Amino acid sequence: MSDYCPQPTSHIRRPLADVPRMVVVYAHPDDEAFGNAGTILAARAAGVEVHYICATRGECGTVDAQYLHDYADVKALRTAEQLAAADALDLGAVHFLNYRDSNMPGTPDNQHPEALVQAPMTQVAQTIAAFIDDIQPTYVITFPPYGGYGHPDHIAVHHATLAALAATTWQVPFVYYSTFSTTLLRIIIGVMRVTGRNPRAFGRNGDIDIVRVAEEATPITTVVPCTHVIPAKIAAWNCHASQGGGMTRVPRWAWRWFYGVEHLTRVHPTVRGEKEILRFDYDTAHRS
Ligand SMILES: [Zn+2]
Repeated sequence: MSDYCPQPTSHIRRPLADVPRMVVVYAHPDDEAFGNAGTILAARAAGVEVHYICATRGECGTVDAQYLHDYADVKALRTAEQLAAADALDLGAVHFLNYRDSNMPGTPDNQHPEALVQAPMTQVAQTIAAFIDDIQPTYVITFPPYGGYGHPDHIAVHHATLAALAATTWQVPFVYYSTFSTTLLRIIIGVMRVTGRNPRAFGRNGDIDIVRVAEEATPITTVVPCTHVIPAKIAAWNCHASQGGGMTRVPRWAWRWFYGVEHLTRVHPTVRGEKEILRFDYDTAHRS
């Protein structure tokens, strides 16, 4: 456990106005876009203000040298990418918590005193809770327990956000986890197995267990239609070019099938029966 206690940095694009709000809490510059660009843009289109709380600056991301030309280091590059994505997503603000990227287990970064995973969880939770009390969001979105693919920062953000939600004065009406359909993933796992490759050592660094990713995905309770924002969604991905954003091989005619919906797990209040179609009209319905 480290005694590093960073002050957050807020990049405010608009002052808070009296409109419904959403807070997205993730770990790295790109988690917001790769995970939920469509959801964020659909919320914006419905008049919801969106703030992104980003726990680290993504210092440990793998980056090709070509992207680093104009930047001192990966931290500076990924901060710039995040601020560009804030424009593309029309966020109200990005709040960096200023912990250091913890990288994957077993790396020296994971032991760094400024790493998110070395911080006391209560400290991270208090900072997030203060933002939630200030912003008073109708919607909060964060990672599920396995954080999508098991990244330690994603899991840390999940626990800190749940602790924050338990500590806030403001009672958040709707809390969601990001999730996804595992159909395509299960096909990939099957193909890898029959072609003699190991689906438990997936990705650029071979450190992603996609069998577990499929097993740990939380159930889809909520569908967010986002066909109307697909070009903006791809533009937001493109802002995180150093992390592979924007490289779509899907032909334009098929975009709506691949990119036209995003999925969430609503954990508060729980969804019973049919799936929720989230159109961000709760406040409109309850204020009028
Ligand atoms: Zn991440």
